[in-house]
Amino acid sequence: MYSDLSGSAQRPAVLVATYFGSPGPSLAALAGTGVEAIAVDLVTETHTVDAVATTPGLQGKLLVAGVVDGRNVWRTDLEAALGSLGTVLGSAAAVAVSTSCSLLHVPYTVAAETAPEPAAAEGVRSWLAFAAEKVEEVVTLSRALADGREAVAAEFGRSAAVRAARAADARLNDTTVRTRLASLRAAGTGRAAAADRAAAQRDRLGLPLLPTTTIGSYPQTGAIRVARADLRAGRIDEAEYVRRMQAEIADVVRLQEDLGIDVLVHGEPERNDMVQYFAERLDGFLATDFGWVQSYGTRCVRPPILFGDVHRAEAMTVSWITYAQTLTERPVKGMLTGPVTILAWSFVRDDQPLADTADQVALAIRDETVDLEAAGVKIIQVDEPALRELLPLRAADRPAYLGWATGSFRLSTSGVEDDTQIHTHLCYSEFGDVIGAISDLDADVTSIEAARSRMEILADLNEAGFANQVGPGVYDIHSPRVPAQDEVEASLRAALEAVPAERLWVNPDCGLKTRGTEETVASLRNLVAAAKAVRATL
Ligand code: GLN
Ligand code: ZN
Repeated sequence: MYSDLSGSAQRPAVLVATYFGSPGPSLAALAGTGVEAIAVDLVTETHTVDAVATTPGLQGKLLVAGVVDGRNVWRTDLEAALGSLGTVLGSAAAVAVSTSCSLLHVPYTVAAETAPEPAAAEGVRSWLAFAAEKVEEVVTLSRALADGREAVAAEFGRSAAVRAARAADARLNDTTVRTRLASLRAAGTGRAAAADRAAAQRDRLGLPLLPTTTIGSYPQTGAIRVARADLRAGRIDEAEYVRRMQAEIADVVRLQEDLGIDVLVHGEPERNDMVQYFAERLDGFLATDFGWVQSYGTRCVRPPILFGDVHRAEAMTVSWITYAQTLTERPVKGMLTGPVTILAWSFVRDDQPLADTADQVALAIRDETVDLEAAGVKIIQVDEPALRELLPLRAADRPAYLGWATGSFRLSTSGVEDDTQIHTHLCYSEFGDVIGAISDLDADVTSIEAARSRMEILADLNEAGFANQVGPGVYDIHSPRVPAQDEVEASLRAALEAVPAERLWVNPDCGLKTRGTEETVASLRNLVAAAKAVRATL
C-alpha cells in the first residue's frame, strides 16, 4: 500500500508514523518503499534502537526518532535518549528528535499544578513531564545533537539530578509492602474449590434462585454534585458532607427495599470516580488539579499518578458499607475497584514491571476486603471493567499479561473466608481473547454485559469452561429506554438455556450512575417482576 502511495508521481512527501511499540518486521518493509520518512517509537521496546540501526534501506530517508515517551508522565533519561539517538544517527539520511507517539495521552503542562503539594507526595511534581515539558526535552535533545552535549549541559544536569532523587526516594521502596507481598506470593492466592465456596455461601446467604442485584452505582443526583462542590469550596465541613452522603445512601437502600431487590448496594454516592476515589486514599498516588486527558468524545478524566509503592493506611470504604448495612436486613454488597482497572486508569511508574505494581495495588484491595468481611459484610464486589483494555496489541504478549492480571485479581480477593461471596463486574461481552481469563479470576459471581448480544455470550462462556455463577446484564443501561417486564423475562429464559438457575443472577448490565432516577426505578421494577415471574416457573 505504501509502495503504491509513494509511487504516485505528484504528491507531498509521505511520513509514516508507527508507535505504541516496535514496528517489528514492518520497519524493513516500509524502508523498502518510496516513503520519505518513518517515525519509530524507540522507548516502549528498547531493542527497537538496534533494529533501526541495522535496517538497510533507511539511508535515503528521514528517521523521526521517538526517544521521549509520549504515554507516561515521567521526565526522560536524557543521557539514555541521547545514546539512542547516537546509535541510530548513521542509519538514515537525517534524524529528527521526537516523542514516541502523539501527546494527546498526557496532560498539557506540569506548570499548571500550583497548589501546595500534599505532604505524602512532596517533591513528586518535580519528577514529572507532561506535554509541554516533553516538548522541551525534545528541543534539548535536538540541541545536544546539533550543538554538542556541552551546549545543554545545564539542562542535562538538572534533569539527571531530579531523576537521581526520584530513583533514591524511599517511597519507591517500602520494605513492609515488599516483604508482605513476597510472603503472600509464596503462600499462594487460591481459595477453596468454587463448588465448596458456593455451598457455604448458599447456606449463609439464603438467597432465592435468580437473585436480583445491581452493579453498584445509583443515579448521581443534583444533591450529590452540590455536596461535592460545597465541600471543595469550603462551604461545608467533612462531617456535613458525610451526613449528606449518608442521606443519599439511606434513599438508595429504601428504594431497593421497596423494589424488592435481593442483594443491595450503597449506591456509591461518595465516589467522584471509581479509580480516583481509591487513589486519593492510598499512599503512593498523587492527584493533579489540571491533569486532564481525553477519555472518549468530549469526556475527560484526570488520571491519578502512581509514583511509589502502594500502601493502604486505613480502611477506605468500610464506614459507608456498614452504614448502609445498618439500614436493612438484606445483605449489602461491598464495592471495590480491582487492581488492573486502577492501573489502567492511572499513570503508572516506569521503574518496575507492571505486574509488580498491580500486586501492590492488589494487596491494598485485599486488606480492604478483609476489613469489610470483619465488619460483617458477606458479599464483596471487585470491579475489573478495564481488564480487556490493557491487553497487549500482539497476540504473543497476551498470555503473560492475562497471567499476571488474573493473578493480581486473585491476590486481591483470596484473603476472605469461603463463605464470603466475591463478585466481579466486567464492562463488556465481547470477550474474544480474554474469555479464558474470566474463569481464571475465579470470582464466585461475575456480571457482564449481555443485553445487547442477546445472551449469546453465555454459550461461549460454557465452552471456555466457566462454571461459576454469572449475572448476564438483562437490560442495557447505556440507553434511557425502560425495558418491559416480558422483555426481561425473555432474556432470562434465553439465559436459562445456557446456564442452570442455580448459577444465574439478575442484574442490569452496568452501573446506574449516568442514568436518571425515574427511568432507573421503572427499569428495576420490571427487572424484579421478571425475576419473580421466571422464578415461579422453576
Ligand atoms: N461499580 C461501578 C458502578 O456501578 C462499576 C462501573 C463500571 O462498570 N465501569 O458504577
Ligand atoms: Zn460496567
